[in-house]
Amino acid sequence: MEYQKITKKPLEQHAVKPNLKDYPEAIKEWSWDQVSWELDWFDKDHLNIAHVAIDAHLKTNRRNKKALIWESKKGEGEEYTFLELSRLSNKFANALVNEMGVQKGDRVFFFLERVPEIYIAILGTLKAGGVIGPLFSAFGPDAVKDRVGDSEAKVLITSPSLKKKIVEVIPELPALKHIILVNRGEGKANLDDPYYDELMANASESFDIVKTHKEDHAIMHYTSGTTGKPKGAVHVHEAVVGHYATAKYVLDLHEGDVYWCTADPGWVTGTSYGMFGPWSNGATQVVYEGGFSAKHWYSFLERKKVTVWYTAPTAIRMLMKAGNELPRQHSFDPLRHLCSVGEPLNPEAVVWGKEIFGNAFHDNWWQTETGSIMIANYPIQDIKPGSMGRPFPGIEAGIVDDDFNELSHGNEGNLALKPGWPSMFRTYWKKDDLYQSRFRKGWYITGDRAKRDEEGYYWFVGRTDDVINTAGHLVGPFEVESVLIEHPAVAEAGVIGKPDPIAMEVVKAFVSLKDDYAPSEELRHDIQKFVMKRLSSAAAPREIEFISTLPKTRSGKIMRRLLKAKELGLPLGDTSTMEED
Ligand code: AMP
Repeated sequence: MEYQKITKKPLEQHAVKPNLKDYPEAIKEWSWDQVSWELDWFDKDHLNIAHVAIDAHLKTNRRNKKALIWESKKGEGEEYTFLELSRLSNKFANALVNEMGVQKGDRVFFFLERVPEIYIAILGTLKAGGVIGPLFSAFGPDAVKDRVGDSEAKVLITSPSLKKKIVEVIPELPALKHIILVNRGEGKANLDDPYYDELMANASESFDIVKTHKEDHAIMHYTSGTTGKPKGAVHVHEAVVGHYATAKYVLDLHEGDVYWCTADPGWVTGTSYGMFGPWSNGATQVVYEGGFSAKHWYSFLERKKVTVWYTAPTAIRMLMKAGNELPRQHSFDPLRHLCSVGEPLNPEAVVWGKEIFGNAFHDNWWQTETGSIMIANYPIQDIKPGSMGRPFPGIEAGIVDDDFNELSHGNEGNLALKPGWPSMFRTYWKKDDLYQSRFRKGWYITGDRAKRDEEGYYWFVGRTDDVINTAGHLVGPFEVESVLIEHPAVAEAGVIGKPDPIAMEVVKAFVSLKDDYAPSEELRHDIQKFVMKRLSSAAAPREIEFISTLPKTRSGKIMRRLLKAKELGLPLGDTSTMEED
């Protein structure tokens, strides 16, 4: 089915005037310097993300405005003003500096549910000059060990039950000096580590924020590649300029908005747009601690009177699957702007937004490395359902061939960006060669394939590597294969992404067994459970196929390409480098 362009009303007919009033004009006039002057710098070279996001508002009439409205899985609520977040994060910064000896540049990691303490502690760490590293609470011990180990984090903030989950790998993390336990009604487990509440009770409410340089490291998010373990993309304090500008012009945040970002803080969207972007714009955020539930999400949108909502395609498709009866029992009148990111957003989902919420979903594209939204649909611009939209002002995008020469519109190629925006990652932690390899002929090569049409809209085609995007989580096949072969029954393993109507892709593993083992349902479940426990449920293969041998190159590398072609019933292509039987 062909989807018609969704035509937007002219500016004067918008009840809330979009911040981005004229796209071509903004492209022409854009200056990162100018936008950065809207923020509160210490001087021309120094700023601190936590200051810009929170403390800068204390000088304004937002001082007592609600910054965070939180609801627990059980339905309890807590609210924090900008002033309260400022004081609490000061306390946490004092605890880190005075009790843990945290200094500028030290890595502080977070392995915690979506509770208020994670927001407070992240802000406090940034104030203390530390580098934050948020992890998904769904991670298993291996996933945590790889990231905390590689970053040589000095402090880990977690909860008693999450600590128990990873206790076996802690001795393998020699750089980790302190663990802080956030105890939300779990009772005091018999653990030696200090408790968050006790540290906070003893800490002063005033703290002199570290005057970080704009190029000082601030944020690390681990992201998966085709080969090797996940790598830490490092962002600097200046990144907040990008978070601020894109939250203002793409999410279109205004003073009176109630904004909901459904992303977990373990994902870059959960920090750029679940903390720094909205707060640097002085917006009120609502946060729901729990995961996806169609019933709860609709009720949350209605009860909290959400006006701007940022979510992800898999969640939208799951809402669609739950049927249209449920949303029709609610009223979403205040909801005026809907955005989506993380995977391709199918045109049906864009249009469904209009049917149910009176507004289409605005797809946008970016990645961990870019730090902020790069390509987007804007409130003032017509939407072509299925397209990611057009480059953000100040961002030059292009499609290049495999020799990195630019292609004209209509041609499929590598999606590339001209480097130099504030939230761009500055390196992969301790892997600078890999970082450098992402730049070719003056372009940053994103690893995605796309097309640009004659009106400058970008259309996603696919990834150039084997990385699997399952419900917006990037899963590196190598990571999963490494865990699979640790299972006592597994001899060899190859992992691919298998297309899925809801999650876009699911992880599928091809496994050959050691001589003493025979395929069985029980073994299949045992292997699935093994990966789920060690890595995470997202990484655990949804399907396992037992095969006698895996296709390999002569040098012994598993040919995932062939596994995928076989799975999809596609031609096998060039097999000249394949190992002979
Ligand atoms: P991550 O670094 O985990 O945020 O994943 C980034 C990757 O997700 C991108 O390189 C794309 O492959 C994919 N992605 C993100 N947003 C979109 C989108 N709007 N459409 C298609 N793919 C997307």
